Amino acid sequence: SQFFSLNSHPQGLPDQSLFDLKTAELPELSDGEVRVSNTWLSVDPYMRGRMDGVTTYIEPFELGKPMDGAAVGEVIASRDSRFSEGDRVRHAGGWRDVAQLPADQIEPLPDFEVPEQAYLGVLGMPGMTAWTGLNTIAEMQEGDNVLVSAASGAVGSLAVQLAKAKGGTVVGIAGSQEKLDWLESLGVKAVSYRNKDATQLSKDLKAACPDGFDVYFENVGGDCLEAALNNLRVGARIAVCGMISRYNDQSASAGPGNLAMILIRRARMQGFIVFDHWDQYPSFLNEVGPLVARGEIDYRETVEDGLEKTPEAFLKLFEGANQGKMLVRL
Ligand code: NDP
Repeated sequence: SQFFSLNSHPQGLPDQSLFDLKTAELPELSDGEVRVSNTWLSVDPYMRGRMDGVTTYIEPFELGKPMDGAAVGEVIASRDSRFSEGDRVRHAGGWRDVAQLPADQIEPLPDFEVPEQAYLGVLGMPGMTAWTGLNTIAEMQEGDNVLVSAASGAVGSLAVQLAKAKGGTVVGIAGSQEKLDWLESLGVKAVSYRNKDATQLSKDLKAACPDGFDVYFENVGGDCLEAALNNLRVGARIAVCGMISRYNDQSASAGPGNLAMILIRRARMQGFIVFDHWDQYPSFLNEVGPLVARGEIDYRETVEDGLEKTPEAFLKLFEGANQGKMLVRL
């Protein structure tokens, strides 16, 4: 089987030379293990943090060892009574073509009428993140004005649609005309951040939503955060989901100069990690699964073909080359 490993820690933006594609013979299947032929691999922004060799809320990738991440695939051999050949499953043995794992680290796919890769995106970790951030962390209420950054991405594009469905007035920040057009088609007022400083972005957000925001779903950090802080309503809630504009920084950068807006607007800012809320995943699926199956959620995917394209797919996240969920199809 083939897998990727890292040969060194990136300095700043990673490049393809850091990733080695290796081949290894899989050991014989032990009792309780399952072998899965992967069909789809997920690449996610949080993987950048795992490349620095430092433990955060998750273990780092070890140099020279197989990388991992979410994947779906088909069981091709099983020595556990819970799985048989042909089962479609999800697990964390990504960045490789064939995964061999203990059965308790594998889960059958839920049975909504959706393509299986949806369980890596809109009905997987990113979807769960959007739902948790909006409802549990930001406590969005009907009628709220909601701002979402990286709004056309895997997390953002579900966050904006759930916020609309809950009766919100929604503004999304994104980086290309195609993305802005998609957001507008979803009933979202779309604002570009490209080639703008925080002052200009603040003005554009103000023009898009003169009354200000009750909720800010933060995916980007930097100038987007500063501009959002200038446009909060009294009692606003900021769900800090991600800060992708900072993930490749080599040293701490200056924070927003207007943090006092938190005080002036009596706002609350709370970070969250979706894995802490995973006990709520069945509730998320019950609510959002049927909407996706009925076509009431417009989700998109950007797909690279072939295991060897996995690093490229990952790096595209930092170029904004994806609309919706970035995936690798094997
Ligand atoms: P996306 O599908 O949103 O892909 C990343 C997007 O980020 C790009 O398409 C790009 O869109 C935007 N982006 C990249 N670099 C920059 C930059 N320098 N400035 C502004 N925008 C940038 O990824 P996900 O939906 O998977 O993740 C979105 C965010 O949510 C990330 O910050 C991620 O770390 C976070 N996250 C957090 C979780 C948690 O548990 N807290 C769980 C999952 C994700 P554009 O063209 O619009 O710039």
